[in-house]
Amino acid sequence: MFNLNPRFAELGLEFSSQVKPTPLTQAPKLVHLDSELLAAIGLNALSEQDLCDLLSARSSVMDYPALAAVYMGHQFGHAVPRLGDGRALLIAEHEFAGKTWELQLKGAGKTPYSRGGDGRAVLRSTIREYLASHALDKLGVPTTQALAMLSSQDEVYREKVESAAVVLRVAPSFLRFGNFEYFAKQKKPAELEKLVRFVCCNYFTEIDLSSNNYVLYFLERVIQLTAEMVAYWQSIGFVHGVMNTDNMSILGLTLDYGPYAFMDNYNPQQIFNHSDSEGRYTYVNQPNIAWWNLYRLAEALVVLHPNADELEQILAKYAEYYNQKYVQLMGAKLGLEEFTIDDLPFLDELLQIMQAEKIDWTYFWRKLSYGASGRSQLSLDYPSLQLENWFNKLDAFYQCDTVSEQQRQKQMLAVNPAITLRSHLVQYAIDRAEYGNYSEIERLFKALSHPFDELAEFSNYYHIAPDWSEHIVLSCSS
Ligand code: AMP
Ligand code: MG
Repeated sequence: MFNLNPRFAELGLEFSSQVKPTPLTQAPKLVHLDSELLAAIGLNALSEQDLCDLLSARSSVMDYPALAAVYMGHQFGHAVPRLGDGRALLIAEHEFAGKTWELQLKGAGKTPYSRGGDGRAVLRSTIREYLASHALDKLGVPTTQALAMLSSQDEVYREKVESAAVVLRVAPSFLRFGNFEYFAKQKKPAELEKLVRFVCCNYFTEIDLSSNNYVLYFLERVIQLTAEMVAYWQSIGFVHGVMNTDNMSILGLTLDYGPYAFMDNYNPQQIFNHSDSEGRYTYVNQPNIAWWNLYRLAEALVVLHPNADELEQILAKYAEYYNQKYVQLMGAKLGLEEFTIDDLPFLDELLQIMQAEKIDWTYFWRKLSYGASGRSQLSLDYPSLQLENWFNKLDAFYQCDTVSEQQRQKQMLAVNPAITLRSHLVQYAIDRAEYGNYSEIERLFKALSHPFDELAEFSNYYHIAPDWSEHIVLSCSS
């Protein structure tokens, strides 16, 4: 069933440690599986029982040694020299249709990198990761994905006693900036070079490794992918919440879902991670933090490419890549074909109004997509002279455009989702799951599979958030 292609495993034991997952023994139960994704990577022959056995570590993938990778990280701006997969284990590298996928269990027990932790994940954080990665994927945002999740009655101790759960994640690679930083910090340039070449060989195949500048090309690729990922986040109102360098994917995938949020009311300074007292990881800071993290990666690469000026010149391209993608995505949301960087003040004007009037991000863009009728509704929901003025300016833009009203609506409805994974929606699914009822997870999963369609059966998901949602607080690791 598994068609193993151990690429990361063959890098050697400087990069990871072999660890057996610790079984969950108390009533392990499959909570959900993504049958479409399983089929897409050629694993649809796995039965529910197979998945249950794999996730609870009652069985393992034959001939593949489970691995925990070593990395470091800059956490909240400070270097932590040794982190690593403290509760994640790579259990297979599986090839299907010419692509190799890494399969990783999260919450499978202690590893040499667990530090004081128990190597486990609780049900609520597992559900949050599972549903959010599905939501982002269906919104077209680069992300790691999730194949299945399992609950158990095994106890784990957080602020209270909770039950242990496991998610089976999948991605082309789970490498982070931190893996590269680690070998630079350890003064192991040979290992660092091996890792950079590994990524170029397997993922950035357009890079000519015989070139003297391959490290620059590598960095530029990571910069571009990271900039685009963050532009996507901004466009859908997604706040990652803990953008430490150990949570930054080298492939520009959204990685490690912790205290994330999809914004309700537009508030770029809102703190969602309660460990983040200074608001380092708020919506407004995400583009700059990504750049700061890329700077740390570039510093790690200096030993391979000692011309720091050249590395800095490449870093300077970040703004260009970011702006290009951001302008493209926001222009599409506005329904403007000819939106350019010079038009950003017009968008900023809207953002200021949205913040002042506490306008809901997802709801606003969806309604805006419906033309005059949507705008009338928005005027009723958010009576504001400034907003009316802004609508008039938008009309002036539309009059310069060549597309028909009907065509514009169609295009806008295809990029402005009706549903995102609002905090209260996922919380409701969690509350029920904690009593063993997984039906809400299934419903939400289905609705999130079609974010641009408004389906009658899911109409309750398309509303703005209730007031209590504002008080949901989220912690870093759970
Ligand atoms: P995170 O903030 O979830 O990205 O985690 C930061 C670091 O702490 C990573 O190295 C994780 O592997 C580790 N970690 C988080 N939670 C646990 C846990 N319950 N047990 C062991 N290690 C953990
Ligand atoms: Mg992490």
